[in-house]
Amino acid sequence: MLIQPETPAMSDSQAIGQDGWLQHARRIPSPNFGPRPADTDINTVVIHSISLPPGIYGGDEIERLFTNRLDWSAHPYFEQIRGAEVSAHFVIRRTGELLQFVSVRDRAWHAGRSSWQGRDNCNDYSVGIELEGLEDTPFETAQYEALGTLLDALSQRWPITQIAGHEHVAPGRKRDPGSAFDWGRLQALTGRPAAQFAGLQNPSQTA
Ligand SMILES: [Zn+2]
Repeated sequence: MLIQPETPAMSDSQAIGQDGWLQHARRIPSPNFGPRPADTDINTVVIHSISLPPGIYGGDEIERLFTNRLDWSAHPYFEQIRGAEVSAHFVIRRTGELLQFVSVRDRAWHAGRSSWQGRDNCNDYSVGIELEGLEDTPFETAQYEALGTLLDALSQRWPITQIAGHEHVAPGRKRDPGSAFDWGRLQALTGRPAAQFAGLQNPSQTA
């Protein structure tokens, strides 16, 4: 029996398939994931920043980390994270290039011990997006644009109503994406209500 390709729609390349994979992302499957709890309501995006080594951009170390292929002895910093088995659903490089490591249908390992809006274990119900960068260092325009497009694509399939930073869901433990991430810019770019963005609320509400 012939498998009919899906009829391409205008934005098909930016759509997320039934399998939870985005058509236009570069796909680098990570073994670091598990099932989400049954009947999970995926309504949250957690934004992170990462660079390996910190402040060095453009190499393949992030994808090596997320696929358990990083040479821990290649840099002193890597010794600090030796043995880590982590992942995120998406990484947005400085150029705006989008990489996907885990299907959105599955549970990626990005937030660790965390809580948001009264729900613990953010990994259960969130989508993890890493921006290549360094806390307190400005991100690139291409990254905001790719992030906005990705949020639109996610929202076409899941009722995303909460967009938080790792710093908000794990306060005191994590600082990313950090003070240089422009929440107002992302809000303006996406046209979403400010109330959806943790970074635009009062600190007392997000702590
Ligand atoms: Zn993080």
